[in-house]
Amino acid sequence: MWLLMLMASLGGCRWFTVPPHLPVASSVALDELIVYSDFELPENHRLLRDLELLRADVTGQLSMPVSDEQIQVYVFKTPKRYKKFLREHFPNFPDRRAFFVETDTRLSVYSYWGDRIAEDLRHEVCHGYLHAVVPEIPLWLDEGLAEYFECSRGDAGLNEMHLEQLLEAQDDREWQPDLAHLEQLENVSEMHQIEYAESWLWAHFFLRTTPARKQILQDYLTQCRTHPARPLSKGLLKVEPDAEKNLIAHLKMLKETPSLFQDQADVKSLETDRLK
Ligand SMILES: [Zn+2]
Repeated sequence: MWLLMLMASLGGCRWFTVPPHLPVASSVALDELIVYSDFELPENHRLLRDLELLRADVTGQLSMPVSDEQIQVYVFKTPKRYKKFLREHFPNFPDRRAFFVETDTRLSVYSYWGDRIAEDLRHEVCHGYLHAVVPEIPLWLDEGLAEYFECSRGDAGLNEMHLEQLLEAQDDREWQPDLAHLEQLENVSEMHQIEYAESWLWAHFFLRTTPARKQILQDYLTQCRTHPARPLSKGLLKVEPDAEKNLIAHLKMLKETPSLFQDQADVKSLETDRLK
């Protein structure tokens, strides 16, 4: 999830000083990221290297320029400290393990060191990398790409949980692709699990099937950087009228032969992951 907040609503220069209880005892600087924590996080920790590599993955696959806008990542050692901070500073936020906040002057991620910290940080930091370059990215695409890039590198964007949910929903005739519907969503509170899953599938469809589809997505993101976002569905259905039908075919192929959508670099990355 990500939440857009305006400086005005935060009361002047509140963000220029460190709010109490922020976990800043330790910090590690990595290119665009500064990772703060309230415990010692080794500089060469695998998770930190992973976040650095993520930037190259995101900008490379989406053909986006690298931004020098800094992203602050705050990691609390325990959920208790994290929740206390949330209650004091973001009392209206929903109960999530991690979140991304964009203000006029800052891109920040908050989380705690739990079992799913790697996935959570990849998801939220991906929002940071995207917003640093495409601040007006449509919600569905923002979430779809974050769900895609939160997968560990060897998984090549294959989000098993979403895959299973979509297959089941499709079998039960409870879901059909509807990109125009996703494009109407403006707030994360309107996005349910199935909308996250479909957004992920579109991201996977664009990035892992044909060079032409990848190009459509890259061109669209370039447009979003300079113009208010127009619906992607209109342009897509013009060049590929059966895109939604093809998305279902892609879903089924992904279940039956996932290896078709991995390249050699992914396989190598998966093997390296297993060795670690
Ligand atoms: Zn998100």
